[in-house]
Amino acid sequence: MDPVDLVSLTRSLVDIDSTTGREGECGRWLADYLRGRGWSVEEQRVDGTRFNVLANVATAFKPAVILSTHFDCVPAFFPSRVEGDRLFGRGACDAKGILSAQVAAAELLRRDGETRVGLVFVVGEERGSDGARVANAAASGSSARFLINGEPTDNRLGLATRGILRLKLRATGRAAHSSFPELGESAIDKLIDALVELRAIPMPSDPVLGRTHYTVGVISGGVAPNVVSASAEAEVMFRTTSDAGDVRRALTPLERRIAIEHVLEVPPVKLTVVPGFDTAVFPYTTDIPFLHGWGEPLLFGPGSIHVAHTADEWVSIEELGAAARHYVTLVKSLLKQI
Ligand SMILES: [Zn+2]
Repeated sequence: MDPVDLVSLTRSLVDIDSTTGREGECGRWLADYLRGRGWSVEEQRVDGTRFNVLANVATAFKPAVILSTHFDCVPAFFPSRVEGDRLFGRGACDAKGILSAQVAAAELLRRDGETRVGLVFVVGEERGSDGARVANAAASGSSARFLINGEPTDNRLGLATRGILRLKLRATGRAAHSSFPELGESAIDKLIDALVELRAIPMPSDPVLGRTHYTVGVISGGVAPNVVSASAEAEVMFRTTSDAGDVRRALTPLERRIAIEHVLEVPPVKLTVVPGFDTAVFPYTTDIPFLHGWGEPLLFGPGSIHVAHTADEWVSIEELGAAARHYVTLVKSLLKQI
């Protein structure tokens, strides 16, 4: 069995455009690649052209430890190139380099006769996690005990990840000619008052994850400078550290001025760790909350979240190699606990 050429595998994956929504071709290539190396592969349909790629060594999908990440990417696509130790390209860091390191690790384990490792590679992580949701539905009755999810953590084990809560704050008023403002009711004024009040509200905090913070990312309202505004809204994204209900309760006083609409929620996650690794807390969300059927979650991957999604995305080739060896160590130590 040839060892996996990490650079060549990562570049092959990067060079197929798999921007979220068009992962079909990349999935096809990956499924064929794994079959070519002797893996038993299942293509799990997510929609018309998109599918997750599940693989294991034996014919029945009965692994104890899962290595998992996603193969969709954010736009804009750009192909791979190598400069010194850096492999550039869309997805090099998030998450096709990680996927390659996981395949390399699984192959090293298989060479040593280890058959209890499964691979779950999903679509759609960058926009709503539809791939992970489908993968989770298929996990019922699975023998998996641990899920090692790959996202860029600079080869550190995650202790916890923050969740998100997206809300829309809607203010309603009554339009009037701006020369007679007393005849109207300004929605924009109500929204501003609510946002100022929001600043003073104490946010929930957690000893590991810290304090919940938020961004008012979008604000809109009104129709013309000489019209008292009848409607205004703001989109607010909270990075949560506890149950989203804690934030919602803290915001109750704002409902005197505005209506609050729930848009999206992903819970924060406390992760499993094993001794001997550097650890860190990560402020972003992953597919992990949607993959709970695949066992206790761990988070680990090469590359930095600071270069993921950038116009210059890259990953260190040396770090990819180190990640493959770390994944082997992680899997072996988890298998010992079973
Ligand atoms: Zn990612």
